Amino acid sequence: WTGGTVTDAENSMAELAALAETAGSEVLEAVFQRRHSPDPATFIGRGKVEAIREIVQATGADTVICDGELAPSQLRNLEDRIKVKVVDRTALILDIFAQHAKSKEGQAQVELAQLQYMKQRLRGWGGNLSRQAGGRAAGGDGIGGRGPGETKIETDRRRINTKIAKLRRELKEMRGTREVKRQSRRRNHIPSVAIAGYTNAGKSSLLNRLTDAGVLVEDSLFATLDPTTRRTTTSDGRIYTMSDTVGFVRHLPHGLVEAFRSTLEEVADSDLLLHVVDGSHPDPEGQIAAVREVLAEINATKVPEIIVINKADAADPIVISRLLAREPHSVVVSAKTGDGIEEALRTIESELPRPQVEFDVLLPYERGDLVNR
Ligand code: GDP
Repeated sequence: WTGGTVTDAENSMAELAALAETAGSEVLEAVFQRRHSPDPATFIGRGKVEAIREIVQATGADTVICDGELAPSQLRNLEDRIKVKVVDRTALILDIFAQHAKSKEGQAQVELAQLQYMKQRLRGWGGNLSRQAGGRAAGGDGIGGRGPGETKIETDRRRINTKIAKLRRELKEMRGTREVKRQSRRRNHIPSVAIAGYTNAGKSSLLNRLTDAGVLVEDSLFATLDPTTRRTTTSDGRIYTMSDTVGFVRHLPHGLVEAFRSTLEEVADSDLLLHVVDGSHPDPEGQIAAVREVLAEINATKVPEIIVINKADAADPIVISRLLAREPHSVVVSAKTGDGIEEALRTIESELPRPQVEFDVLLPYERGDLVNR
């Protein structure tokens, strides 16, 4: 790392390790290096490259993940020297999102972000090649590689551009359909609850738990193309929708923020936010902070928020008490065992905005007028 404190670097690496595990990897070893600036050729210094190569050989690791965004040439150089696959933070996050995207729209959004990431790297590579070639005499390997290399880059770029344009069109269409349904729900005063939270916090498990109890009859107003929006009802029969949203991580790659903008905007537009936290995670406070950072970025900080501390079955009670002390308006649940789900539903019901007509009827009650009559 090149800036920040040792703790910053350690937190960032701990998060990277957790993300790698989320992606299905087993983390064998963490290696730190402090430098003023990344090595232009290999990101880390030569000595560190050698050290990592030895660790890879000793542990039998098949991948090295760098906590940063590598230039394409740095990635290639590292792979050449370490002899295993090298991945950067952005690629890892994109991979996790690809695994987690369940809806058609979500999948298209991730694919768009992946293509944009690839395209940038093609451009970097092309630039490097021509610079190299320009600086070398005929017969250098830059020349040999340049002709076919650039042609291939051109073809690849064209193919990627076509695919990106197609995805953008499809996403626009999906967005249109979703928007029409959303407007229609708005007109009908149907409140919406958005589930947001750190990747892997248990958002979709919670959505299933919370709406299992509710009515799942689909009609045209609710049958969205996105299976992650469900219609449900309160115990007194009020209808509302609940949607799973994209997972958040720290330093969400820009391409992803752009690709997911419309989904993220829906979070900002919802009536209530369930912010799910993994209570069994070593640093749940860090996750809350990371999610709030993204919420601020998408102007969603005004939406009323309920913190839902999930995975209570696997969490350390001390961590939960600490979280409750910091976030008094939270509920503790386990989407796995169902513990706390009733309480969470009651909290949601009490926080949901009530339609104006209901207010008019309920207000005298609350003042005791009707009771006294
Ligand atoms: P999302 O990425 O936030 O949508 O998270 P998922 O709902 O996909 O859950 C992520 C992982 O956590 C899955 O392996 C779930 O089985 C697990 N999980 C979810 N809720 C709980 C819980 O309450 N307790 C435990 N122990 N695991 C859970």
